Amino acid sequence: MSRHTSWHVGGPAEVFFNPRDRSELAAFLRVLAPDVPIHWIGLGSNLLVRDGGLKGVVIATQGALDRLERRSETTVFCEAGVPCALLARQCIKWGLGPAEFFAGIPGTLGGALAMNAGAFGGETWRHVVDVQTIDRHGKEHARAAAEYQVSYRHVVAPERDEWFLGANLTFERQPGAHEDEVRALLARRKASQPIGEWSCGSVFTNPPGDHAARLIEAAGLKGYRVGDASVSVKHANFIINHGQARAAEIEQLIEYVQTTVERQHSVRLQPEVRILGEALR
Ligand SMILES: Cc1cc2nc3c(=O)[nH]c(=O)nc-3n(C[C@H](O)[C@H](O)[C@H](O)COP(=O)(O)OP(=O)(O)OC[C@H]3O[C@@H](n4cnc5c(N)ncnc54)[C@H](O)[C@@H]3O)c2cc1C
Repeated sequence: MSRHTSWHVGGPAEVFFNPRDRSELAAFLRVLAPDVPIHWIGLGSNLLVRDGGLKGVVIATQGALDRLERRSETTVFCEAGVPCALLARQCIKWGLGPAEFFAGIPGTLGGALAMNAGAFGGETWRHVVDVQTIDRHGKEHARAAAEYQVSYRHVVAPERDEWFLGANLTFERQPGAHEDEVRALLARRKASQPIGEWSCGSVFTNPPGDHAARLIEAAGLKGYRVGDASVSVKHANFIINHGQARAAEIEQLIEYVQTTVERQHSVRLQPEVRILGEALR
C-alpha cells in the first residue's frame, strides 16, 4: 500500500482491485464472500496503513469512477474517483463556484465525501444534493444528503457497508471565477504548509475553539522525530516521512504527540487521518 498512500508507507493488501467501471465493480462485489473485509481507497491522502498490510480487499476508485458532467445550470454530477483538483478546475471552466477550495484537497471526491473534506473555508457536504452508493452485494442506492449526519471532518452514513459511487453537487453561478484564484490560494498554503513532502495533511482535527497545530507547537514538538518521521517544522499538525519511515514510526509519533499535548494542555487530540491494517509482528 506504500505505492497508494501519500505517506508512502503500508504493507501489502491481500487483494487490490481497481475496477474498470461500475459494472465490473458490481460483478466483483456480487461474488465476494460476506465476511471479507472491504476497504475503499481514493488517492490515499488521508490513510495510515500499518506495515503488516490489509486483510481482505482494497477497492481503488481512481481512474475507474471518473465521470464528471454538468447536469443543469448549477448542478454537477461527479463520480467518486475524480480528483478534487479536477473538479475545482472544471467548475471554474463552467463558471460555477465556490469550488476553488476543492483544489486544496489532494484526494478524490469519494474521499472528500467520506471525510467531509474542506479547505479555505469551503466544505464538501455544503454542496451535496444527493449521492449514489453501492453496497457489499453490488446493489446501487440513491440517497439524499439529508440521510447523512455531517459535521466537521465527520460523516455518519445511514448504512454501514455502503460506499460512494458519485454525487450531484450544487454550486452558484460564478462567471468571473478564474484559475488564478486557485493558484493564489495554493501559493498561500505552500507558504505555511510542507506541500511536496510526504504527508497526509493535517494529522489531527482541530479541537473546539483551538488549533491542533498551535497546541503541538506550544508543547515544543516541532521537529520531534521518531525514526525517519518527524513533526514538520513548517506546520506542526503535519507529520513528514523523510523517505524511509515505517508506518509504526509514524503511529508512534502520533501517539507521542497525543500524550504530550494531553499532559501539557489537558486536550486529547483526535486523529483526522484514518489508521488501519495489521502491525508487523
Ligand atoms: C498535503 C495534503 C494536504 C491536505 N489538505 C487537506 C485539506 O485542506 N482539507 C482536508 O479536508 N483534507 C486535506 N488533506 C487530507 C485528504 O486529502 C482528504 O481527507 C481527502 O478527502 C482524502 O481523499 P482520498 O481520495 O485521498 O481518500 P483516502 O485517503 O483514499 O481515504 C480516506 C477515507 O475515505 C474513504 N473513502 C475513499 N473513497 C471512498 C468512497 N468512494 N466511498 C466511501 N469511502 C471512501 C476511505 O475508505 C478512507 O476511510 C490533505 C492531505 C495532504 C496529503
